[in-house]
Amino acid sequence: MSIWAVSNQKGGVGKTTTAITLAGWLTTRNENVLLIDLDPHGSMTSYFGYDPDSISQGVYQLFQQAANKQEINVQSLILSTRFKNLHLLPSSMAIATLDRQLGTQDGMGLVLARAVLSLQDTYQHIFIDCPPMLGVLMINALAACDRLLIPVQTEFLALKGLDRMLSTMVMINKARKRPLQYTIIPTLFDRRTRASIETLRMIKEKYSSEKLANTVIPVDTRFREASMKGVPLPLLNPHTRGATAYNILLDGLLDYENK
Ligand code: ADP
Ligand code: MG
Repeated sequence: MSIWAVSNQKGGVGKTTTAITLAGWLTTRNENVLLIDLDPHGSMTSYFGYDPDSISQGVYQLFQQAANKQEINVQSLILSTRFKNLHLLPSSMAIATLDRQLGTQDGMGLVLARAVLSLQDTYQHIFIDCPPMLGVLMINALAACDRLLIPVQTEFLALKGLDRMLSTMVMINKARKRPLQYTIIPTLFDRRTRASIETLRMIKEKYSSEKLANTVIPVDTRFREASMKGVPLPLLNPHTRGATAYNILLDGLLDYENK
């Protein structure tokens, strides 16, 4: 089982899109995939037609079970989607209050890591869509995953967000047995703009190629269309530029797994 967390403290950089699109491709390869929505905004949960305001079984309940020292039953909190091989552990607004409720309670950083252990035989891949702020949820995501995917919008100021994310990772690494592997994914690339070209150049200059994705994700309006229809782009329109780029990215990421 591979567990990939998608994170960047900046919003609108393509985190949710990255998780859903890579997951969509994996399902076409007959892999069983679980998406975990740790963002209180619940945009991943909404994507699949569930209303984060009325979810009564999800991430929040998982943390409640842990806090109350109950037996953790993550399987019972997982929802199916309209798509074969694609499942969702949904977010709800209530998870925004977890920091205040549990932040200081011992052992709360490993709730997710422990919960996913029980899913090893069920899913080949798990994606964790992270919240944009550092807190108990992000700490759980970074403790549970074996690779961190960092989408970075190819736009001025984006590198600041990347630096912040990498410092967060260094901090989390102190508590991990093995340092976290990470991959920087340049997103929303528009080759007609100087901002995109310049930012990509700066990223390539600053980070070694093994930390960089094997491809760049272009701007593609089909992503918005897919999200309006609630369908992962590879299952709606696999031949578009954006979908194709994510398929290439997936191959690159899977290569690491097999090394
Ligand atoms: P985040 O999760 O980081 O906040 P999202 O994945 O929700 O970002 O993306 C923000 C918006 O940008 C969404 O409307 C999404 O459909 C759109 N988007 C994401 N990636 C692309 C892309 N490569 N091309 C065009 N639009 C994109
Ligand atoms: Mg998001």
